[in-house]
Amino acid sequence: MTATAYTNARLLDFEREALTAPTTVTTDGDTIASIGQAAPANAEIIDLGGQTLMPGLIDSHFHVVAHTLNLWSNAIAPDSLAAFRAGAVMEELLTRGFTTVRDLGGADLGLVRAVEDGYIDGPNLVICGKGLSMTGGHTDLRERTDIRPDALGWRLGNMGILVDGVDNVRATCRKMLKEGAKFIKVMANGGVSSPNDPIDSIQYSDAEILAMVEEAKNANTYVAAHVYHDAAIRRCVDLGVHSLEHCNLITPETARRAADAGCIAVPTLVAYEGLKLEGAALGLGHAEQAKIDVVRDRGLESLAIMRDAGLSMAFGTDLLGQLRKYGGMEFDLLAKVLTPAQIIRSATEVGARLCGLEGKAGTIKQGARADMIVVNADPFADVTILGKPQTHITRVIKSGRTVRERAHPKGGHL
Ligand SMILES: [Zn+2]
Repeated sequence: MTATAYTNARLLDFEREALTAPTTVTTDGDTIASIGQAAPANAEIIDLGGQTLMPGLIDSHFHVVAHTLNLWSNAIAPDSLAAFRAGAVMEELLTRGFTTVRDLGGADLGLVRAVEDGYIDGPNLVICGKGLSMTGGHTDLRERTDIRPDALGWRLGNMGILVDGVDNVRATCRKMLKEGAKFIKVMANGGVSSPNDPIDSIQYSDAEILAMVEEAKNANTYVAAHVYHDAAIRRCVDLGVHSLEHCNLITPETARRAADAGCIAVPTLVAYEGLKLEGAALGLGHAEQAKIDVVRDRGLESLAIMRDAGLSMAFGTDLLGQLRKYGGMEFDLLAKVLTPAQIIRSATEVGARLCGLEGKAGTIKQGARADMIVVNADPFADVTILGKPQTHITRVIKSGRTVRERAHPKGGHL
């Protein structure tokens, strides 16, 4: 194993909400070996010149197979093409400093393995297989007049599959867990980018969701639910769902209930900003466009409600296709309500909990994975720099190896 010592590195001190004095972090192979100790004699030395060394970022809500905003076009692409497209998306995520990505529907074990085996130079991927949607639910992409019997659910480019009935739901959960899913995703409420389901529609019966929760629990994991509406969120909390995606229309009472139950919310505000800016131009249908404002208008308010309720939040973007370029904007939106420390934690430690990687990712400590980024400024002073990788992220380290490196804009090459 090769040891690398990053010297003159300022680390995040969450207690002081400030950077530490310059110190040394040493990695051994793919693991962080020591912090604050002298570099071992055999180590390669990388002098960071006082820059910030922080955990690699985690996006806790992404769809790497969503190559374009036209979801049918993704679904009908041959699986081989969808895989290459997903690889390109993943490589871009790593360039932006995301060393771990939780995929909320679409990616399969092949993409996970392709990263592990070096075919894709991308982040570690934590997958759920396909999102479960009932007929007429959030990933039922068929127009009302389209009577084809299914919606190409198992194509790699598709984010979700149609499954109805308790027994079918159980069998599908078991199949996906067997095929490498680390959690289960359910569409439990209407959505924006689908034609036939109003935002306030409740999706799936209690019995079906309870079956998913039981199957997930039996596999020592959890269910993540796509939810906007307060009644849908409350129902999911009461049924034992752990991860609450979006949550734009949550009320204080439901947020407190979710916090008491130990849930984690994943707001994805930038998704609606992106859809508002470009959705129509990119071919989003009229029915879908009409739903954007319903969730967008309440986004910032939902952050304040969840913060005040003590509900943990993980960073997520949920940007599909061409809208991925807006990813950095999520930091700007969060910064209107949350402190830099809260936002950094959401994109590191809290995300790691959802990925089942607590203590392994999203942290710089002995024994953790050596997934780190070098930033040429202080994210406690301005957290939005994390959304501007071209100018502020100068190095991305994954599994102890530098995978991206940029010239230091303040002069000199690292
Ligand atoms: Zn999503």
